[in-house]
Amino acid sequence: MLQQTQVDRVLPKYGEWLRKYPSLEALAAARAGEVNRTWRPLGYNARPQRLHAIAREVVARYDGRLPSDEKTLRSFKGIGAYTAGAVQSFAFGRRAPIVDTNVARVLFRVFVGRGNRNEPAVKKRLWSLSAILLPRRDVFDFNQALMDLGAMVCVARRPRCPICPMSPICRAYPFTPDQEEAS
Ligand code: SF4
Repeated sequence: MLQQTQVDRVLPKYGEWLRKYPSLEALAAARAGEVNRTWRPLGYNARPQRLHAIAREVVARYDGRLPSDEKTLRSFKGIGAYTAGAVQSFAFGRRAPIVDTNVARVLFRVFVGRGNRNEPAVKKRLWSLSAILLPRRDVFDFNQALMDLGAMVCVARRPRCPICPMSPICRAYPFTPDQEEAS
């Protein structure tokens, strides 16, 4: 729900969604039209259809329990590397990397410093870095902290370098916009 959608818009819909579909079984049993109507104001209408399809597949093939391993998660249509990492890390507490826009920005600035972080080779490196950096414990907190750092301190424009805990090791410090070819 939050991907490219503001928190303020998502919050009421998130509550309504969970009230209507408190389990994968409830979502799987719902009619497609109703699921789409519940989601509609959020846009990106392929998403409720995919969630609905995933819920039905999980009920049919996995007894209603979402698998926790990356390979099976990524076998569901609509679950890519980011979502698989988020589900593993946040739902199951597993050691899985997550690279969303905020995390990619932080890792790029701290460990690369300048250039274009959207180049495929750079993206691949950011995923590798994210995996290497994972602590043995408290992965949930680590991933959440990286996301928060990107959302609140190392923001796209005018990052708050003077208060940033990463500044002593950051290759982009002190940040200037001309360091990045894309954001
Ligand atoms: S020092 Fe600045 S550029 Fe580097 S991670 Fe912190 S906020 Fe981002």
